[in-house]
Amino acid sequence: MVTSDCLFCRIVAGEIPATVVHETATTLAFRDIDPKAPVHVLVIPKAHHADVSALAGADPGLAGEVLATVAAVVAAEGVAASGYRLIFNSGPDGGQEVFHAHGHILAGAPIGPMVSR
Ligand code: AMP
Repeated sequence: MVTSDCLFCRIVAGEIPATVVHETATTLAFRDIDPKAPVHVLVIPKAHHADVSALAGADPGLAGEVLATVAAVVAAEGVAASGYRLIFNSGPDGGQEVFHAHGHILAGAPIGPMVSR
């Protein structure tokens, strides 16, 4: 389902441009518009699910396809061996801003402490 008020659904629909780095029948990976690391790629299911819990609950197979796309992206970006951080911000305390499930791949340099206090 495409929701017209969802930014990432609009990227999937081609209504908003994005720098796509990998695409499958069910997933899309594109560069974050405001990168926080030398490599900052967002991986999403093409179908709309509000967050990763909703995605996993509704369609665990698709959640697995998102993770397979993460693996393909880190290989293509040449950071599989050097490492990366995968973040799914969820809900208000998680700092989620776009309510279409997405994983952030951060890589290309040491990403630093997991959280700052
Ligand atoms: P989150 O805070 O986890 O919901 O992350 C949303 C991410 O989407 C942020 O890192 C934004 O920089 C990114 N973002 C917002 N608009 C776009 C866009 N048009 N293309 C690519 N990334 C975007």
